Amino acid sequence: MEDLKLHAIVKTHELALKGKNRPWFMRKLIENLRTATKGAGVERVWQGQLMVGLTLSDEECWPEVKSRIKEVFGVAKFYKAYDLPRDLDGLKARMPQLLEGRSFETFRITTNRADKRFPMNSEEVNRDLGAFVKDLTGAQVKLKDPDICIYVDIQPKSFLVYFDEVKAHGGLPVGVSGKVAVMLSGGIDSPVAAWQMMKRGCQAMFVHFHSYPLVDRTSMEKAADLVQHLTRHQYESNLYLAPLAEIQKKIILSAPPSYRVVLYRRFMVRITEALAKRNRAKAIITGESCGQVASQTLENIAVVDQSADMPILRPLIGSNKEEIVNMARDIGTFTTSILPDQDCCTLFVPKHPETKADLDTVLRLEEVLSVDEMVRDALENTERRHFASPEAAAPAR
Ligand code: ATP
Ligand code: MG
Repeated sequence: MEDLKLHAIVKTHELALKGKNRPWFMRKLIENLRTATKGAGVERVWQGQLMVGLTLSDEECWPEVKSRIKEVFGVAKFYKAYDLPRDLDGLKARMPQLLEGRSFETFRITTNRADKRFPMNSEEVNRDLGAFVKDLTGAQVKLKDPDICIYVDIQPKSFLVYFDEVKAHGGLPVGVSGKVAVMLSGGIDSPVAAWQMMKRGCQAMFVHFHSYPLVDRTSMEKAADLVQHLTRHQYESNLYLAPLAEIQKKIILSAPPSYRVVLYRRFMVRITEALAKRNRAKAIITGESCGQVASQTLENIAVVDQSADMPILRPLIGSNKEEIVNMARDIGTFTTSILPDQDCCTLFVPKHPETKADLDTVLRLEEVLSVDEMVRDALENTERRHFASPEAAAPAR
């Protein structure tokens, strides 16, 4: 069928895209699909009715285009479609060729008359084509759970015919929900939290805290690998590498060991918030889940929240470790996350940190620290790294 044009036909979750935001969501989705498939053999990206089409240069590029489209949030499902002249007899003549290599005992035809000017309605096309395919193959029509579904989209200038559905993640196109600042450790949880927010249409910027040179650079390298991986969903990312060592040194001189973690955390949040504001991000994201470790109690969460004006969102708050690990495997971050590293949060902390931090105590402990100056110093020594995906698509900035 080399003579037929091929398209990837992308469908969104209609409900998510209803209302006055739809044109803007569709524009963003199209822009993201265009960027995601750069260099993969897509000639044109176009908008149809409740769908987006990507015209392929040839059949060979389908596997690569398929794997790229799969990671674009806002795509619920998609298909490889053949583009045929808008003529039912012509379609029938092509049918043996289109069905070649497919064995099935039951089938259904699902026609969508996107162009209402077509003289037959979708029910009539279903019946006419159904009878034809039945005669041709001997298979039976079965509306529920057939072996194959033959989709026919009646477009203004052509029929689009397709079969196999590829499921994608759904969600919203990255960018439509604004920007968030993700506190990214090298661990399992925070990359999953980032992924979930990106799936809700948020563009993520990443902040990683390190205690270099008190420890080695392994956690920074892991954070960079994780950001590179996650950038497949948003095409460009910035990772801010912020130093915590000087702050930690000051905290251990004045605060009791049990309060160190919560104090570190408040500084991390302040620095993240400052970076977020500079970049017009509207919320801070962490990978915390309730009760997972001693520091993640409701009391400690309240004390940490008090250090920021911005909302701190914790998408994993109600998930347990096993669920998060499974998500991390699916997302593809798990193997990087479990590599050994030297994490700043494990530095100078006791076996049993405070689980019910008290705000008055925390505020008193911070009184002897020059908080603003410590934050300013850390910000001045924060490095930024830029990531792009597909890796060669965007120039380094
Ligand atoms: P994770 O698996 O994401 O490391 P965790 O279970 O190890 O989480 P904590 O170490 O208590 O939990 O960290 C809680 C959250 O604080 C993390 O999910 C992350 O959002 C943030 N965080 C922890 N360490 C860092 C770090 N070095 N840099 C940036 N954020 C961090
Ligand atoms: Mg961790």
